[in-house]
Amino acid sequence: MSAQYVVAIGLECHAQLRTRSKLFCSCSTRFGDEPNANTCPVCLGLPGALPVLNGEAVRLAVLAGLALGCEIRERSVFERKNYFYPDLPKGYQISQYLYPLAVNGKMVIGAAGGTHKEIGIIRAHMEEDAGKLLHPEGDGRYSQVDLNRCGTPLLEIVSAPDLSSPQEAKTYLQSLREILVHVGVCDGVMEEGSLRCDANVSLGTPRDRLCGTRTEIKNLNSFRFLEQALEYEIERQRGVLDRGERVIQETRGYDAERRVTYSQRSKEDAHDYRYFPEPDLRPLLVPPALVARVASALTELPAARRARFVAAFGVSEADAELLTSQRELADYFEEVVRATGDGKQAANWVQSELLRELNNRGLTAGQAPVRAAQTAELLQRISSGAITGPQGREVYAAMWAEGKDAGAVIRARGIERIGDVSTLAGMIAGVIAANPGPVADFRAGKERAFGFLMGQVMQRSKGQADPKVAQQLLRSALGG
Ligand SMILES: [Zn+2]
Repeated sequence: MSAQYVVAIGLECHAQLRTRSKLFCSCSTRFGDEPNANTCPVCLGLPGALPVLNGEAVRLAVLAGLALGCEIRERSVFERKNYFYPDLPKGYQISQYLYPLAVNGKMVIGAAGGTHKEIGIIRAHMEEDAGKLLHPEGDGRYSQVDLNRCGTPLLEIVSAPDLSSPQEAKTYLQSLREILVHVGVCDGVMEEGSLRCDANVSLGTPRDRLCGTRTEIKNLNSFRFLEQALEYEIERQRGVLDRGERVIQETRGYDAERRVTYSQRSKEDAHDYRYFPEPDLRPLLVPPALVARVASALTELPAARRARFVAAFGVSEADAELLTSQRELADYFEEVVRATGDGKQAANWVQSELLRELNNRGLTAGQAPVRAAQTAELLQRISSGAITGPQGREVYAAMWAEGKDAGAVIRARGIERIGDVSTLAGMIAGVIAANPGPVADFRAGKERAFGFLMGQVMQRSKGQADPKVAQQLLRSALGG
């Protein structure tokens, strides 16, 4: 019989900071260049070469720390983490250990049943990336190494073990990516390794939830792999515990093809790395004035903006989600709604009409030739009743096609709303005469037939009939 276990998952995510050059030298961080093209004595670790810290990397790391609600330490220290691996020519990685740059943050993620959950961020520290080993086809006796990534600036973000399911872990990683991309710290391209994570997972009984031995799954570079690897690993550990055996503390890999985790090596403890302060770099001092300057550039985060859209503009959660999926789209929507004062109308218009025009042209909202103010002006003409909704859509399409304002399109096309009773009455009489079947249906109590007849009136007026007036007239003409 399977016992009930409490699952505790913590993620260590590595985000590549969006700098043009590496953390301690001026080599390019560009992806996809010829192997070993972007290397120099510093990132190759040649004797006598000295590291010089990249100021932009520090600014981005501070920005990320603030966005994750962390305290930024005024003094942090780079240390050497010593280990041997062929993709690490120096024999050590420059990282931060005892004194990380940022600590004690938190992130709020969406949880089951529309609730929210707070996930602790224990620390975020700066470090350099290693190179990449390549194993070409052949007799398998030799491997190749590409050191272009050596020295690429990373921010390692360590969560508390507050995540309790693979689904939550995936949501956390998605939210983290959203924040980092939004503030411009990381490009978030997981296929290129710009964001990847290691997952710690342990199972315990409800009473000793943190007493379970944890394993670490390395190098998960997609949301799907993270979720699948955790699902497998939790079941594996459950099986081990159910059999009365002990989980071994170890590092495991994930085989995406076979969908299993496998043992790589027994887990090192920190003392195995022989950390010591990097003698070639002074402690990193980040004065409060610098933190304040970076903080002033920090814009509202997507989750906060979603909540504000719902509260201030009355849009639904789902609409807010879509509207904040891209910063430029959210900016566009907000400018429209500030001008019109009608959140629902603006949300509907932006999601249907604007997105269609953008998609047809392969543009982002920031590149839209029809500006938010022009869209807002059109929407105001619709809500004031100057033109009808269908006319508005026609005008909007023309605004995009012809690059004109709503007023110019309306004048050029002679578009106006028909609210004149005698003109509408004539059209309605024609519709009633041409559709005896639906008229009889309506009189027999079928309300749906009314919608059909109303559609015929709108069609006959080429969409120019004032819908409210036409509806009243149609109902009285039908004797309803
Ligand atoms: Zn270099």
